[in-house]
Amino acid sequence: MESKNWIGGEWITPAGHTAVVRNPSNTSEEIGMIHYSDASHLKTAELAARQAHAKWSRLTGAARGEYLYKMAAALEAHADELAELASSEMGKQIGEMRGEVTRGVNLLRYYAGEGVRADGSVIPSSDINVLQYAKRVSLGVVGVITPWNFPVAIPIWKFAPALICGNTVIWKPADIASLTAVRMGEIFATAGLPPGVLNLVIGKGSVLGDVLLNEIDLNAVSFTGSTATGKSVAAACAGRNIKYQTEMGGKNAAIILKDADMDKIIPMIVSGAFRSAGQKCTATSRIIVERDAYEPFTQKLQAALAQVKVGAALDSTAYLGPVASAGQYETVSGFVKIAREQAEVIAESKAADVAGEGYFISPLVVTGVDVSHTLVQDEVFGPLAALLVARDFDEAIELCNHTVYGLSASVFTSDLSKAHRFLDEAHAGMVRVNQETAGVEYQAPFGGMKWSSSHTREQGQAALDFYSEIKTCSIKHTL
Ligand code: NAD
Repeated sequence: MESKNWIGGEWITPAGHTAVVRNPSNTSEEIGMIHYSDASHLKTAELAARQAHAKWSRLTGAARGEYLYKMAAALEAHADELAELASSEMGKQIGEMRGEVTRGVNLLRYYAGEGVRADGSVIPSSDINVLQYAKRVSLGVVGVITPWNFPVAIPIWKFAPALICGNTVIWKPADIASLTAVRMGEIFATAGLPPGVLNLVIGKGSVLGDVLLNEIDLNAVSFTGSTATGKSVAAACAGRNIKYQTEMGGKNAAIILKDADMDKIIPMIVSGAFRSAGQKCTATSRIIVERDAYEPFTQKLQAALAQVKVGAALDSTAYLGPVASAGQYETVSGFVKIAREQAEVIAESKAADVAGEGYFISPLVVTGVDVSHTLVQDEVFGPLAALLVARDFDEAIELCNHTVYGLSASVFTSDLSKAHRFLDEAHAGMVRVNQETAGVEYQAPFGGMKWSSSHTREQGQAALDFYSEIKTCSIKHTL
């Protein structure tokens, strides 16, 4: 498969620089070719999106919703094929990848329904004969910049609410999820979207990012990715006074209190930390254990992790696949080296069970490092979790909040009052009791505090607030 851009309803292959795409589960296997875009492709997309906005924004919400229902049906019809392509491109284990595509289908249906749902409010006027109301209007053209770790669901949770609110979109996916993005575009093209409503431009963030943020006439930007990139996206948008949201990194903690049922929680800790090879923004990367729970918890964790199978992404019996790319492999391996040299490994799984060379990293949990250590403070984004021991519940909360990030956090306990205190006191946008740090449902607000977010929320009803502006209307009907 070869990448191409979808602009104004046309498929265009950029003529410049190319790169071969290799399967991270077996790097000798070539799965396609990327053709990188330049500024000219973004300018063409700008024109197409702007022209399309005039008509798209005037359709009724119900009519826009019909397109989203058709997109959902098309995606569902191609779910397995798309999941296999994505697993081969960025290494997510196939069972999880199928689940992600299903989430995409659900998101499209959820936002399709918004076309005929809540759309503003009537506000009592202090004057007589006046009808005063607030309604949502579209923003215009929205730039959507997405990461590779949820190559299907994240783009959809941005452009489904953007489209239903009447915006048109220029989408720049992460270059290591380019083929998946192109296939999604092809699938959505079969839903008959009017030309220019959704435009896909494939390329490197380092090349297209500056142009998109500084030269393209955008009305808003929705970005998900690292905190470092997010900071520069936010600064550029603030300088232009356009609306932006930046969903960024995490260093999510799971707190285990001594009264938790160890047998029941271990699968949730292992899943939170190691599904998707730890490459979820909401992955559990810090495990904070109350001192009295340390022995029983770590014994059961060791036993559980020893059973975890690392395998090729398309192996349905594998628990996790490889990390996504050579760059990811280098970064995560660097953290693993530090962990082996400076920390104590307390649980780890077997080496990958595969033929051929791939970017496999075996999950491990380490302890014995200070709260300020890089393994406790920096986002690893791989299958490595740091365990800290807390004297008691109060210290566990302190440790949980001792980070610049604030995306997700969990507590495992059977004490209801401690559960409530945790929900109040943990500085994170998504706080969960007796559930893993990952896995917030699509109909609920998603986002972080502190350096995990620019304080907007995605998904659920909250996304509609980002992708629309409120217009206050007032009419005096009898003079
Ligand atoms: P990244 O920041 O490297 O890239 C994200 C996107 O930004 C890509 O499309 C990339 O091409 C683009 N980009 C790169 N440089 C740019 C620039 N100068 N201007 C504009 N765009 C640019 O992140 P990544 O490695 O793709 O993703 C991993 C990161 O994403 C992790 O930090 C993870 O925590 C975060 N993430 C956050 C959430 C969330 O909702 N908070 C969800 C998933 C991933």
